[in-house]
Amino acid sequence: MIRGSTELVAIVGTPIAQVKSPENFNTWFANNGRDLAMIAIDMREAALDAFLASLRGWRNLRGCVVTVPYKQVIASRLDGLSERAAVLGTVNVIRRKADGRLLGDNVDGEGFLGAARRHGFQAGGKSALVIGSGGVGSAIAYSLCEAGIQRLVIADVSAERAGALAERLGNIFPTVGIGSQFDSLDGFDLLVNASPVGMGGTGELPLPAELLQSLRPATLVADVVTSPEITPLLELARNRGCAIQTGPEMAFAQLGHLGAFMGVTPREI
Ligand code: NAD
Repeated sequence: MIRGSTELVAIVGTPIAQVKSPENFNTWFANNGRDLAMIAIDMREAALDAFLASLRGWRNLRGCVVTVPYKQVIASRLDGLSERAAVLGTVNVIRRKADGRLLGDNVDGEGFLGAARRHGFQAGGKSALVIGSGGVGSAIAYSLCEAGIQRLVIADVSAERAGALAERLGNIFPTVGIGSQFDSLDGFDLLVNASPVGMGGTGELPLPAELLQSLRPATLVADVVTSPEITPLLELARNRGCAIQTGPEMAFAQLGHLGAFMGVTPREI
């Protein structure tokens, strides 16, 4: 029940009907007796400046989750960014301060790591391959570096994009061995598909089948794609005896990070 006293959070993007955050947050608010509610907002890009101005003045709104396609454009229009959001140039969550200023963060990578920890993965001293250096791949790569990964290989069909990310992260995390070359999957503790390959039942794999022959059972294989939940890569990895992590697991593990940044949930929910 939304009352006059109910404080709000929002999620903004376009389209918006497919997002799961409102169900997840509203269920948590109801189960935990909080006078809070999340609303979903499908906003036209031309209205974003007016939207952000409204957020600054919206006194019973605590924050807003940001989804596709506005993660980049909104990052450039806020009043402050976390260090990682500034490096990544993207936000997926905004906190409205009591004085109306809007602060942004990107917790995609933290959500990913939270889910990986539940599989027993600790990044310290490990080796990881991240396929895809776009919005989500960059955030995951950043969080892996921050968590102390020893070796990070970033692959992308756009070698230029992967190279630019490797260079940026290399400057911030000089002790991590960052590269883009690999000829086997043998030495990786973690393999992440952070590209859209495998989405929507196309049956595609993000790496050549011959290369996937070198995948060993000790590697944790993760996919960011949420639908299907078991992508062709995860199916193949499971058949090879690997532990797997799905896109929905990453999305779910993010909830606490999003809620904590907005100040409406604890970090672990
Ligand atoms: P993006 O367009 O910013 O980046 C995708 C990157 O993948 C691009 O750099 C592209 O060049 C690269 N790529 C495409 N095909 C490739 C291939 N065959 N090999 C290597 N690289 C390839 O997209 P994004 O915002 O990073 O989203 C990526 C995926 O993550 C989408 O499917 C999205 O739905 C999913 N996603 C999941 C979560 C979650 O919580 N699970 C959260 C956000 C996004």
